[in-house]
Amino acid sequence: MSGSLIIAGLGPGNPAMVTPEVTLALSEATDIVGYIPYVARITPRPGLTLHPSDNRVELNRALHALQMAQSGQRVVVVSSGDPGVFAMASAVFEAVEAHPQFATLDIRVLPGITAMLAAAAALGAPLGHDFCAINLSDNLKPWALIERRLRLAAQADFAMAFYNPRSASRPDTFTQVLHTLRQDCEPTRLISFARAVSTPDQHLLTVTLEQAQPEMADMRTVVIVGNSATRRIGPHVYTPRSAG
Ligand code: SAH
Repeated sequence: MSGSLIIAGLGPGNPAMVTPEVTLALSEATDIVGYIPYVARITPRPGLTLHPSDNRVELNRALHALQMAQSGQRVVVVSSGDPGVFAMASAVFEAVEAHPQFATLDIRVLPGITAMLAAAAALGAPLGHDFCAINLSDNLKPWALIERRLRLAAQADFAMAFYNPRSASRPDTFTQVLHTLRQDCEPTRLISFARAVSTPDQHLLTVTLEQAQPEMADMRTVVIVGNSATRRIGPHVYTPRSAG
């Protein structure tokens, strides 16, 4: 019995955006582990056990997956988007670091289309020049660090993608983000709110920083702030490939 652990990205929601490599891994799996809404995207079949779990239990979930793989199962841990972007791949490696008995297991990470790239494509090409991605959830880091990164990214004229922009438990984060950005970016800077990208609920909204309101973002939204050269062309938003 040799088990394996695959950490796979399911993409932003549209089944057509699941890679063939991930589809194959899912078809060969004996066990699927992940956050409830992501596991709900897997079609049940005989021989496959689904293990949905609540959010914020990433390390327990990773440990459970590692234990099943060690006992000979073919386990797939699923994330939305890409598993390496603010998701389960790091949680699995943290668990391996804390429990070295798993270090010899066959572990593989399969990439997926991350929300930022699906959103950028739906909008046009707002990430066409240098950009950065920032997780606005402060569950695992202090607000002071988020604020420092925002300021430095704005001063360096990076375009930015924000994940986890707003939640019921942190209603003010995005208000603070807008306040911080307004100190270093001009009022006409373009900011796009891309909600539920690639799903039937998809909604895209591009406004200026001056017009932006915190209510435009929620937990199903990825926010893309352009750099100083980002502009509209017809229905699209794009950033030229050269600076300035
Ligand atoms: N691993 C995921 C990100 C997990 S963090 C990925 O690579 O996409 C969860 C955040 O991702 C959400 O709060 C939201 O900001 C973003 N997100 C995930 N799916 C999305 C979608 N279909 N449309 C817009 N944003 C999405």
